[in-house]
Amino acid sequence: MSGKVYLVGAGPGDPELLTLKAARLLASAEVVLHDALVSRKVMAMISRDAELIDVGKRAGKKLLTQQEINSLLVNYALKNKIVVRLKGGDPLLFGRAGEEIEALRRAQIDFEIVPGITAAVGAAAAAKISLTDRRVASQVVFTTFSRSESGNWLNWAAVTPETTIAIYMPGTHYGEVAERLIENGLSPETPCVVVSQATREEQQIRWSNIAALSSEAQLPAPSILLVGRVASQALDEWNERANASAFQPAPNEVRLSERQKN
Ligand code: SAH
Repeated sequence: MSGKVYLVGAGPGDPELLTLKAARLLASAEVVLHDALVSRKVMAMISRDAELIDVGKRAGKKLLTQQEINSLLVNYALKNKIVVRLKGGDPLLFGRAGEEIEALRRAQIDFEIVPGITAAVGAAAAAKISLTDRRVASQVVFTTFSRSESGNWLNWAAVTPETTIAIYMPGTHYGEVAERLIENGLSPETPCVVVSQATREEQQIRWSNIAALSSEAQLPAPSILLVGRVASQALDEWNERANASAFQPAPNEVRLSERQKN
């Protein structure tokens, strides 16, 4: 008999958004390897008897290499431990789960994946917008602007005015994100919303549009950018205008700069 590894989604932060299975595993795990992104409140649900290992990777400051993390997972399982690999959001989105799955398969370790609520979904709920909307958005793209993740960022052919784009790890490049979006044919007036620390007490929401994005102040990490016609608090108004003319800009949301004045 060997142990088992669970790749568990911690969700965006609010512990009530954990699955029942994740909560049960956190309470019974013997070893928990967690990311920096996991919220304090979720961390508080881990059994006091569990051995905690912070494998958190923050830009530039790598605590452990991916290979070291893989080895830890395998070795603890070989020691018959119940191991939870706890990742922010959902483990299968921008979480290097692929590499861990491969290592576990190779070592023939028993493992299971427990989904979590991904940041884009948590952020959309926080901002109270629908990611798809039969009136204005027919598809959603989960992507990242982080260069370290992969060289190729987005398949622009897939992006249409009816696409909602969820940009993970927007970093300090709001301006660059905006430029790329415009370059590739999105209207500068396309609404977008930045959600920082979604579902946590510190949550902040900033409504903007692509043109105004570069002048928006950076919000604290983690933050995510939702871009597209749905990313507006005035969808009805937008629709009316869009119907009145084939190419009408969205009404400007209350922009950050205006909010700051108040
Ligand atoms: N596996 C995670 C994503 C990891 S990549 C998931 O499914 O959500 C890390 C990025 O996720 C962050 O840079 C940020 O863009 C986003 N993110 C994670 N938690 C977030 C939160 N509570 N609020 C806003 N963005 C978040």
